[in-house]
Amino acid sequence: SNATIPQLLHTTVARGGANDALIFAGARLSYDAFAQAVDDLACGFLALGLQKGDRLGIWSPNRVEWVLTQFATARIGVILVNINPAYRLSELEYALNKVGCKALVLAPAFKASDYVEMIRTLAPELASCDKGGLRTARLPDLRHVIVMGENAGQCGEWAFGEIARMGGAEHRARLPDIDKTLNPDDPINIQFTSGTTGQPKGATLTHRNIVNNARFVTDRINLSERDRLAIPVPLYHCFGMVMGVLGAVSKGAAMVFPGEAFDPAQTLDTVEAERCTALYGVPTMFVAMLQELATTSRDLSSLRTGIMAGSPCPVDVMKQVNDRMHMGEVTICYGMTETSPVSFQSFVDDSTEKRCETVGRIHPHLEVKIVDDTGNTVPVGVQGELCTRGYSVMQGYWDDPERTAEAIRDGWMHTGDLAVLDADGFCTITGRVKDMIIRGGENIYPREIEEFLFGHPDIKEVQVFGIPDARMGEEVCAWVVAKPGCEISAEDVRTYCRGQIAHFKVPRHVRIVTELPMTITGKPQKFIMRDRMVEMLG
Ligand code: ATP
Ligand code: MG
Repeated sequence: SNATIPQLLHTTVARGGANDALIFAGARLSYDAFAQAVDDLACGFLALGLQKGDRLGIWSPNRVEWVLTQFATARIGVILVNINPAYRLSELEYALNKVGCKALVLAPAFKASDYVEMIRTLAPELASCDKGGLRTARLPDLRHVIVMGENAGQCGEWAFGEIARMGGAEHRARLPDIDKTLNPDDPINIQFTSGTTGQPKGATLTHRNIVNNARFVTDRINLSERDRLAIPVPLYHCFGMVMGVLGAVSKGAAMVFPGEAFDPAQTLDTVEAERCTALYGVPTMFVAMLQELATTSRDLSSLRTGIMAGSPCPVDVMKQVNDRMHMGEVTICYGMTETSPVSFQSFVDDSTEKRCETVGRIHPHLEVKIVDDTGNTVPVGVQGELCTRGYSVMQGYWDDPERTAEAIRDGWMHTGDLAVLDADGFCTITGRVKDMIIRGGENIYPREIEEFLFGHPDIKEVQVFGIPDARMGEEVCAWVVAKPGCEISAEDVRTYCRGQIAHFKVPRHVRIVTELPMTITGKPQKFIMRDRMVEMLG
């Protein structure tokens, strides 16, 4: 489709403006009220002097203002830049300057950090300048700081509520003309990747990229205006803002936000109270929710479907979600920020086996190939690097032609993920190219060992990775988290493996930990575990 983000919203409003659009901690907006609030905010942004192509950063956990900002920027062609709410000063400074943000919308506080205080540290002039009059050395492009809520600081910061009220008739009159200037192939969003393997990269995405992907994702789970979608995943990431928000809006479904950040009990309570029909999460979130259900049951009979995605989805976890969470139509998606994000997904009527064991089949209008080290396509059933091509591939990494050229060759996105396709087109992700362990010439895929260890009744979470080893080149390590109330030792883990998996796959070093280093999107960061392990082993 050639629809822009504003057109997507208008179509849905025209079809059912009275339907619930957004529910967040007691706040409820119909699609009509939501679209109205979006226009008010867009006019406020115009009054600030923001124009098509300008970048506006958003630094916040999940909040109503996040979703409004997402559509209000798109309404006037301003490029939204998602900034990780876990960032601290230096990371924020890097991200804002990397893409030259002219405005920043931020939450007042998150997880005991005062965001206003942090931005004032970076931009000390804020505390004394007039609103809109910011000029500051470390953030040379930044002109406006907008704090969510009604009351901002006394000096340089705007209050979000104030912006939403200051648009006025003259700006409103400009909206139809601006609409005509929007093109589906304009960049509208810069999303940073999760930072699972290192520094996050800013992927530049167009209306066409994300509007269409949101549609195809929600087509596969038959989402409609009768559905209520629970979104506990972060908005700053494509899972929340594209598959969640744009997906729900494309179908006229209600978006239900359980809270600012993921909490298993709060998410399940919300699903129950709001009678949600669909639920999204990364595997670690579902693991935590299953754990919570083991102690306190909930009525989840309203649930029908949902999506697990983001990192390898253990078969056992998928089966439990399917059986114990009333999600007989749960699907897996595979994707990456750079491809808007989804390229593979199951259908709700695929067999339980296929839905739980594979990432499903390729999405419409996309091509796939699996290549070996030399770039040649491998036959069905053979593992190689997954490459995808089509409308969903990003324009590139913002201001980074080198890394863009490395990732996209001939239109093909080289995903860096290892995969196998079967004769029916079902895809299995077998790991990341970078994570493959080569021990004494033997290729070892961590995913296989992780799946095996997941079968241990006392293991809650496990991550397997390689570290350099003078003799073998690399050695296999595992970090293990035990289920609450269970005790497990490193020796137990190794004993469990012996005789069951090949000797060279048995982790040489096992560490029992209480939690894993994770990105805010809930993805275990192996590069941090690897560094710590190397340090510990001296
Ligand atoms: P970075 O690129 O910054 O290191 P990241 O790759 O985790 O971080 P994202 O774009 O959020 O950033 O995640 C995409 C990656 O997540 C994929 O390349 C893949 O490795 C992994 N992934 C996503 N979905 C699945 C899935 N269903 N099964 C296995 N892996 C998945
Ligand atoms: Mg990546």
